[in-house]
Amino acid sequence: MDFSLTKEQIAMKDMAYDFAIKKVKPTMEEDEKEHKFRPEIVKQMGQLGMFGCLAPEKYDGSEAGHLAATLMATELARVSPSWGLPFNLQQNGPQTVLLNFANEALREQYLKDLVNATKFGCFAITEPNSGSDVVSMRTTATEVDDGFILNGTKTWISGVPYVDCGVVYAMTDKAAKHKGMSAFFVDFHTPGITQRAITTKLGLHCAPTGEIFFEEAKIPKSALVANKGDGFKICMAMLDNTRLSSAARAVGVSQSCIEEAVKYCNEREQFGQPIGQFQMIQEQIGRMSVEHEAAKLLVYRCAWAKDSGKKSTTLETSMAKYYAAESANFCASEAVKIFGSYGFSSEYPVERFFRDAKSYQIVEGTSNIQKMIIAQFALGYRK
Ligand SMILES: Cc1cc2nc3c(=O)[nH]c(=O)nc-3n(C[C@H](O)[C@H](O)[C@H](O)COP(=O)(O)OP(=O)(O)OC[C@H]3O[C@@H](n4cnc5c(N)ncnc54)[C@H](O)[C@@H]3O)c2cc1C
Repeated sequence: MDFSLTKEQIAMKDMAYDFAIKKVKPTMEEDEKEHKFRPEIVKQMGQLGMFGCLAPEKYDGSEAGHLAATLMATELARVSPSWGLPFNLQQNGPQTVLLNFANEALREQYLKDLVNATKFGCFAITEPNSGSDVVSMRTTATEVDDGFILNGTKTWISGVPYVDCGVVYAMTDKAAKHKGMSAFFVDFHTPGITQRAITTKLGLHCAPTGEIFFEEAKIPKSALVANKGDGFKICMAMLDNTRLSSAARAVGVSQSCIEEAVKYCNEREQFGQPIGQFQMIQEQIGRMSVEHEAAKLLVYRCAWAKDSGKKSTTLETSMAKYYAAESANFCASEAVKIFGSYGFSSEYPVERFFRDAKSYQIVEGTSNIQKMIIAQFALGYRK
């Protein structure tokens, strides 16, 4: 397998890092303290074509591919994990649902706005009582003559309260379980839909997350993606794409933690020598480096498999997501230890990476859920 990057991919990777340094970094620490989201940054990312890697030209996309998108998400997260998140909300979540399952009318209605970030997107699965067990969701979509009525609550939805549109999963037939779930592409300015921010987060302070309330919200029949009852299938296919993007961000975190730790190892002296000279510190740096590299290769392999048109990449995706999440947490934890008391301080970025990295073990299927999927393949229960 050839992992070399094309000139175009390298240029996109460099462009994303340059953007992060010029547009995100200058206000990043201040924004972190104030928990400030800057919509203009997402809009600029859209203008630069960062969210057009999967969409065809007719929707203003470039079809540069999953690997290009992965590289850019990594570079943004390397500077600030909060700013890697919009890739999932503008692209890997809602766009893949539109591209893979929706009719032309829905694509026409939403795709360009998501690519250009003239509208902010999301995907809403999680509810107060339904996380890993997606099918236990209680939000309902009741069919009426001229549409569907949505009722229920979604929580921990990234992008909220700034969302204009997105994929909402709801039960059209609760008794039918998996086959009773449907997917809708919803205009969030519809009466009966309200958004509220969650303000108690551990990290990702510049990336909004919140709750959505549906109270007798009437959406048109045309909002239904594919057919009634296709929601579970659509959701799992979408997660196969969003998980890759979250794994990509985790790789950005592990890379940054190594970069910061190495710098500190050469600056900080104890016992008359730079701490990098100590064998135990070298053991930490050595292991961090291998964890990061292994995660990066799994993530690249997954993106490459998707770009090659491999029919099912569920196993590659779960492996990449699981390993990248765990290695980002390992690298962040080791970096905090290497920084000593300064690692415990918000004056240095490793403290922020340590908090932000936790999200990768939770979002889009926890590490346990990824291990469960991987084991099901290993045991032959899934093919
Ligand atoms: C920052 C952030 C952003 C998010 N963004 C979004 C978003 O945009 N859209 C969205 O829909 N959701 C979003 N989520 C929600 C996220 O996807 C869920 O939190 C996640 O799926 C886990 O669900 P839960 O928190 O309800 O945990 P639970 O499902 O209640 O799990 C609790 C614990 O039990 C374990 N567990 C559960 N089932 C099993 C099992 N079968 N085997 C072994 N262990 C198991 C889990 O691993 C976990 O440790 C976000 C969450 C966070 C933190």
